[in-house]
Amino acid sequence: MIRGEKLYEGKAKIVYATDDPDVYIQDFKDSATAFDGQKKGTIGGKGRMNNAISSRLFTLLEGNGIATHYLGAESDTAMRIRRLDMFKVEFVVRNVAAGSLSKRIGYPEGTLLRKPPIVEYYYKDDALGDPLLCMAHLEELQVISPEHLEAATVAAKHINSVLRGFFAERELTLVDFKLEFGTDADGVVRLGDEISPDTCRFWDAATGEKLDKDRFRRDLGGVEEAYAEVLRRISD
Ligand code: UDP
Repeated sequence: MIRGEKLYEGKAKIVYATDDPDVYIQDFKDSATAFDGQKKGTIGGKGRMNNAISSRLFTLLEGNGIATHYLGAESDTAMRIRRLDMFKVEFVVRNVAAGSLSKRIGYPEGTLLRKPPIVEYYYKDDALGDPLLCMAHLEELQVISPEHLEAATVAAKHINSVLRGFFAERELTLVDFKLEFGTDADGVVRLGDEISPDTCRFWDAATGEKLDKDRFRRDLGGVEEAYAEVLRRISD
């Protein structure tokens, strides 16, 4: 496919136009940031590994009847995706307390949630630092219609049940993860963005070892090895 104009460059990905207005190319980078861009670094091979992990997981979800933006492989580090109009909301799905939830409600990391999953909504607004939103805020902002919010929340829970089972079979606990949704040219709500150790917390089911971006965020070492281990466990 012909790689056209660069449309967007983020912390971990670049999106290019193609000769088809409804198809983009999403290229994964090795660079990594954390804490709102305050911490920067490079994770060797991350672009290739996140492309492979995301491609595998999008294919798994499509096989389970979940609509995604994934269209196919483009290169070692890139995939072809369907153009979506993205909602200005991030969906965080949680099974086990960690990260900001532990801080917010005082649960030690690793606490099992009473009725998993919890689905949280964050406002995609860099200037505001992507704040957590409650229902009243969502209604006030009108950044997503009630119907789209409902459809994406149902999809997020379905995605969680498919991924949790898939990872459990591979001795990985899916602690939490972030999803982004949008609508395609026909108005269908689809999962976009990526699903990778950059956007999920994975813990080894037996030892609790962290196999995700927390190794980078918290300077735990073995970052590349953790991403490679996740890729190894899901490659079958
Ligand atoms: N997450 C993400 N992008 C963000 C914020 C969070 O991919 O901008 C993911 C993160 O990797 C984790 C989950 O969403 O798997 C929940 O993150 P949390 O709210 O605990 O924030 P953090 O502790 O990462 O700041």
